[in-house]
Amino acid sequence: MTVTLDLNQPIAESSKQARRILDDISLAVAKSKRIVVVTGAGISCSCGIPDFRSSDGLYALVKQQYPDVVLKGRDLFDASLFRDSTSTSVFYTFISQLKRSIDAAHPAETHRFIEMLDKKQKLLRSYTQNIDGFEERLGLCGSSSEGVKTSTKGKSKLRLKDVRNVQLHGDIHRVRCTLCSANLPFTEEYLDIFQDGSAPHCPECISRSNARVARSARPIKVGTLRPAIVLYDEAHPLGDEIGTIQTKDMTRKPDLLVVMGTSLKVHGLKRLVKDFAKVVHDNAPSSQSTSKAPSNPLAGKVIFVNKTPPAGEWADVIDYHVAGDTDGWVKKVCDDWRKMIPKDWEIQTTLEDTASWSVTKNSIGKVETSKGKSKRSHDAENNPTRGRKNQPTAPTSPSKRRTTANHYSAQESSPSKRQAAEVPSTLMDTTAAKRLFSDTTNSPTKERELDLESCEVNLPKPKARRRNQSITKKSGTEFSAMLARKPSLDCVMISTTPRRRKGVV
Ligand SMILES: [Zn+2]
Repeated sequence: MTVTLDLNQPIAESSKQARRILDDISLAVAKSKRIVVVTGAGISCSCGIPDFRSSDGLYALVKQQYPDVVLKGRDLFDASLFRDSTSTSVFYTFISQLKRSIDAAHPAETHRFIEMLDKKQKLLRSYTQNIDGFEERLGLCGSSSEGVKTSTKGKSKLRLKDVRNVQLHGDIHRVRCTLCSANLPFTEEYLDIFQDGSAPHCPECISRSNARVARSARPIKVGTLRPAIVLYDEAHPLGDEIGTIQTKDMTRKPDLLVVMGTSLKVHGLKRLVKDFAKVVHDNAPSSQSTSKAPSNPLAGKVIFVNKTPPAGEWADVIDYHVAGDTDGWVKKVCDDWRKMIPKDWEIQTTLEDTASWSVTKNSIGKVETSKGKSKRSHDAENNPTRGRKNQPTAPTSPSKRRTTANHYSAQESSPSKRQAAEVPSTLMDTTAAKRLFSDTTNSPTKERELDLESCEVNLPKPKARRRNQSITKKSGTEFSAMLARKPSLDCVMISTTPRRRKGVV
C-alpha cells in the first residue's frame, strides 16, 4: 500500500507521523549506498524550457514557419512523421528550436541532487527519460556521451561502468546518420540546417565516398543526419547496452529506489521501475532481524516524488509517494541530511557549494571528487575521443570494423557489414534484453503521453532501415522501443491532475 505524504502541507496541519516518515525518507537517502534514481520530465520543469504545447511556446514558433501544417504534441515525436517530407521538415525545425531552448536553460536543483549523490558515492545509477542532457552538463556521463565510448582495434563500444546516467530516450545534443549510424555532436552548423527544415549530409558517408572516388571506385550513397533522440515506435540504438547495464545494477543489490517527476505511463519505464523495485524490496533488511530500532527504518524502500499520485497498479510497488515538486523535496532531503549526519558535509568544501545550490561547475569534464580521484572525467587528456575533431576525416575501411558490437557507434561500417557484426559477450546479455524488452506491447497509442522524448528514426532509406531493424530484432531490442515511445520533456504533465491520496497519514 502506497503511503502519500504531502510535502507542502503546513507543519501545523500535518500529522506527527507524516513528518517523521518524511524525515526517515531523508535519512534513508543519507544512509543508503546504492541508490537507483529514475527520472522523467517533471525534474526539468523548473529549468526554463518553454512548454512546447502552449500557444506561445515552441510549437507556435514552428507554426509561423509552417502555417498550413497541423502537427501537434505526440505527432512531433512519432516515427511516422518521417513518412512525409513536410512533417519531417516540421520536426527538424521544431527540434532545432527545442535544442536552442535547452541550450539556454539550466539544470534544476534535482539534477544537482543526483550529481551530488554520485559525488558522495551513493548513486548506483541514474536512468532518465529526458533528452535535455542536463545531467551531462553537471558532469554525469550519459549513455550517449563521447566520454563513455572506447575504441580499440577498430571496435567501438561503451565503457558501461562510466555511464552514470542512462538516457532512455536518447540525447538532443547528438545527431545520427540515417544510413551509416555515425553518431556526432549536434553542432551549430547542423542547427541552422535543421532550422530550415533540411537535413545535413553525413560527413562520414561523404568522406568514405570521397575516399572511394579517389581510388577510382564508384561513389557510395551519402546518408543524412537526424537528431539522435528516440521517437515513439522506434528502437533505442543502445537497447542491448541499456539492458546489460540494468541487469548489472540489479545484481549489485540497490538499497533504495527513488523515482522522480514521471507519471510512469510508458511501458518500458514501468517495467524498469518494477524490476528495480522488486530487487530493492528483496534486499531490504528484515524488520524482525533486530530487536532494537533500526538506524535506517526505510532502507530498501521505493520512494516516488511527483506532484500527481501513482496509478493503482503501483500500490504494491511504491512504498511512499511524496506529493510535491522534486526540487522542493531534494532541498528538504539535503537540509535534513546536514542536520542528521553533519560529518557527511564536512569532508569537502566543494560539496557545501553543491548543497547550497550555488554550484558553478558548468563545464563538462571538470568533475572533482573528494578524494582527488579523477572520476568519469570528460577531460580531453583522459578521453581519447574528446580531443579529436568532431568530424572524422578518413574513416577506416568498413572491413576492419565489421566485428563491432555497437551499431549506434559503428559509424563507419556499411549497413550490410553491420548486419553481420557480432555482439561481444560483455555487451550482449540476453537475460537483460529479455527482462527489459519482454512483455512489451507495441500498441502505439496505449502507453504514451504527450511529452518530449523520442527515438531514432530510420529515414527514407528503406534498405538501410530494414537491415537495421533486423539487427535490433536479433538482439532483442524491443525494449528500447518501449522506452523510446515516450519523449519526456513535457513540462505540463505533472501539474494538473487533482491529487488522489492513498493511505494518507
Ligand atoms: Zn553516414
